[in-house]
This record gives sequence, C-alpha cells and structure tokens, in this order.
Amino acid sequence: MSSCHIFDYNSIFAFQNILLQRITKMEKTIDENVQGTTLVVEGKEVNKRNLYIESYGCAMNFADSEIVASILATEGFNTTQTLEDADLVLVNTCSIRDKAEQTIRKRLTEYNKVKKTRPHLKVGVLGCMAERLKDKLLDEEKIVDMVVGPDAYKDLPNLIKEVDSGRDAVNVILSKDETYGDIAPVRLNTNGVTAFVSITRGCDNMCTFCVVPFTRGRERSRDPQSILAEVKELSENGFKEITLLGQNVDSYLWYGGGLKKNFVNASDMQKATATNFSKLLEMVALANPKLRIRFSTSNPQDMTLDVIRTMAKHKNICNHVHLPVQSGSNRILKEMNRLHTIEEYFELTDEIRKILPGCSISQDIITGFPTETEEDHAATLRALEHVKYDFGYMYSYSERPGTMAGRKMEDDVPEATKKRRLSEIIALQRSHCLYRTEKHVGKIQEVLIEGTSKKSENEWMGRNSQSTVVVFPKEHYKVGDFVNVQMNDCTSATLKGVAVGYSDNN
Ligand code: SAM
Repeated sequence: MSSCHIFDYNSIFAFQNILLQRITKMEKTIDENVQGTTLVVEGKEVNKRNLYIESYGCAMNFADSEIVASILATEGFNTTQTLEDADLVLVNTCSIRDKAEQTIRKRLTEYNKVKKTRPHLKVGVLGCMAERLKDKLLDEEKIVDMVVGPDAYKDLPNLIKEVDSGRDAVNVILSKDETYGDIAPVRLNTNGVTAFVSITRGCDNMCTFCVVPFTRGRERSRDPQSILAEVKELSENGFKEITLLGQNVDSYLWYGGGLKKNFVNASDMQKATATNFSKLLEMVALANPKLRIRFSTSNPQDMTLDVIRTMAKHKNICNHVHLPVQSGSNRILKEMNRLHTIEEYFELTDEIRKILPGCSISQDIITGFPTETEEDHAATLRALEHVKYDFGYMYSYSERPGTMAGRKMEDDVPEATKKRRLSEIIALQRSHCLYRTEKHVGKIQEVLIEGTSKKSENEWMGRNSQSTVVVFPKEHYKVGDFVNVQMNDCTSATLKGVAVGYSDNN
C-alpha cells in the first residue's frame, strides 16, 4: 500500500510502518509510527531511580511527556529505554478512539509481566485515559498504582511519595489556568531539529463526537512571553523548526491568563492588549527569522484570514494548514456541532489558496458518524474533490462515552459500511495526494533535513515548506541543514530529488 499521509485507524495496526511517510513529527494528529515510543534523555548522576515513560496519542501527549520528564528529573529520576530497568513506568495515554484505549490496556499486561520480577516497580497512567476513567482505572487494572490527569503533572512528586508509601494515588483535577508555561520541557528522543511548543491547552468546541473537552478541560492559552522564551531557547540549542501546538490554535487568546470563555469579562485594557493567534504567530516569526514555524491544529470555525496573511508575510512560516473538515454533509456537520457549513469551509480553503497559492491543506475526516447516509458520504467525497487535499487523516467513527453523540445518538452505521466508506475516502484521497505531490516535481524547493530516509541509508529525509516528505542522496549534507532540492520524481507521498546547494536559510 502506498502512503499519502493516510491513516485508517481501524486497520492501522496492520498497516503500521507501511502507511507512514511522515515519520518524524506529528501534527496534532496521531502518528502511528511513534505510538508507544519510549522517551529518554541524558541522565544526571545524582538521580538514582529509573523512569520509563511511554507515550501514545497526539503530539500534545508527546509534548506533555517532555514536561513530565522535566518535573521528575529534579525528583531523582533518570529516563531509561529498558522496561526491565525501570523503577517507575509512566504511560501517557489517549482516549480519542476506543482502539487507543485497548492498546494501552494491552500494554499494561506487558508491564505486569515485568512487575513479577521487579515487585518494587510502580506504574502510573497519565493523560486522557487517566482523566476519562479516573479511579475506576485502579479497580479495572490492578497493575496501576497512580492515575494522573493532564493538568496534574506538577503534583507528580507528591503522588509518587504516596505510591512509595504503599498507597494508590490519583489526581485528575482539571485546571483553569495550568499551561506548564513555567516548565522547560526536556527534549526526549529528539532529532535535534524539530520540536513541539504547546500554546494552548484544553478545548471549548464541544464537537459532539469528541472526548477532548472532557479529558483536557476548558481552553486556556499560554503567556506569549513564555512561548517566545521557549522558542528562543530551542533556536539557541540548534533546533531549526518548531510546531506551535493546540487542539485549536486559531482560538489562542492571551489577555493576562484565564479561560478563553472568561475573556468577555476581561477589562478594557486586557481586551485592548490581548494577543490572538495571528499576532502570536507574527511575534514568533519575527523573533526567529531563521527558524521554520508550523502550527496545528486549525479549526475552520476559528481560523481567520489574518493568519493566512501573516503566513504570506513571513517566509519562515511554513505553507501548510491542517484544517479538519470531518464531513462534507451540512446535516452531519450540524449533528457534529461543527459551527460552519461546507460552503463556508470551501470559502475558507478557496481564500487560503488565493492568498497563499503554494499552501498545502490537509484534513481530518470521520466516516460513519451516527445517522450518516450514502448521500452524506457522497457529500464527503465531493468535498474531497473540491479541495483536493495534499494529505489527510481518516477515521471510522468510534463512540466515546460521555460525549454528546455517545449519550444522545445510536452508533447506527454498521461496521462493514463504515469500513467500505472509509476505504472509498482513502482511495480518493490517495489520488489527490499524488495529484498534489506531482505539482512539486520539476521545482527547486528548500528542504530541512530531519534524518536518514527509512528506505535507504544513503539518502536523507526532510520536508519542504508544504510538509511533503522529500528524499535525496546524502552527499556532504547533514541533519539540520536547509538544502535546495531539485524535485525529479514522486510517489503519492514522497518527493525524490537531488540537492543543488544550501538554501540561504543556513
Ligand atoms: N481539535 C481538532 C478539531 O476538532 O479540529 C481535532 C482533535 S482530535 C485529537 C483529532 C481528530 O480525531 C479529529 O479531527 C477527528 O477527525 C478525530 N476524532 C475525534 N473524535 C473521534 C471519534 N469519536 N471517532 C473517530 N475519530 C475521532
């Protein structure tokens, strides 16, 4: 099977490694190749205990694990990649689909085997699954000693003390203002070139299918000064590309702290001096002219053309927008509580292409949402045809307990129908991947080298501004170089070329 950044989550585990070309970094979207990655960082001699931390789910979870490792580095823990050496296992979990939770439960049985020979080993579940299931997890999974929600990581030192003294520990309190802006994440398993920087936490959108508002709480933004400081430090440490992360980055709003929903009560001064996403993006771009800047995820209802104009103004902001559409049917969009019509969505994508003609656009789609008919499905295929996305992430609907759809709607589309519709969507998207990737062939484009190609030791892998994977012979270039590459050929997901020299960004 060829790849064009297409992810079918129902069969993904079978296709793991085959589907994936964008190996190094994820958008907000889950990247199967990094699922379960163990994260390690160089140890401190004074630290006597070993932490094994494994992460699943979206980029925010991987970024959170870097915060957790940073907190525990001052609490006597070095990271290890060997489960059998661990004194503490932390698994950072995802709840977005049922399959994600089943994967974690299987993983817990593996930890259990290790515990048999290392009885002092403690196991903590972090992240969205911890938040969703709370202390029920302690009853359901006997191996678990500690349950910690995404806003409670600063409490880990206390929780670990509890666990050390033989008691189970739980903290799943969601916060109004925690952004971890004051914690310098340690970069785990990094390629030293690309990094994530979280700018918001939580989500206020209440899409009826989505568990995120329940597991990550209300939306709050991080102080722009702490974002700028983190980006500056990354740049000084040799990083060449950062991705600003949030469930809904366009909704970013800093007015001195506090929940987004409370902005209406802010003072006139706070309102006048507030920083929105396009301002933040510009601040980051101006302060770091040699750094590539990406962002994810955009929500169509919140994205403004100001953001696109800011992208057009600054060469170092990459030309890629990840803009989930979820469905092409207005009836289904309404049922999903997506607050736009498909016509409004098309207006936005048409404007993006007008203002930034070279910009790539990618999507998320859910097929088989309750009540979805063949007519609705046909509308989704038409939406794909209209936008001809550069790549996409496609999922079968998975009912999530507690969500509005989970409570009020019957999961009534048969699995076989979901599967068939998903494969039709994937097939069409694949043809568009090829259509878009072919448009780069014949051009010379700047590529940031991220590492060795998976297929050949002799080739580098990097990405162009549009986020398309590019492979080319290594010659004398090295990881982290910005190189101009002549694009000679492609598959649906990968450009093949040869370097013609350094770009002026080095
Ligand atoms: N905040 C982003 C937005 O709504 O635009 C999405 C965040 S979510 C972590 C990533 C993607 O997972 C969504 O865009 C959606 O396509 C998919 N997803 C979320 N809930 C799902 C569910 N219950 N079943 C299947 N896919 C789901």
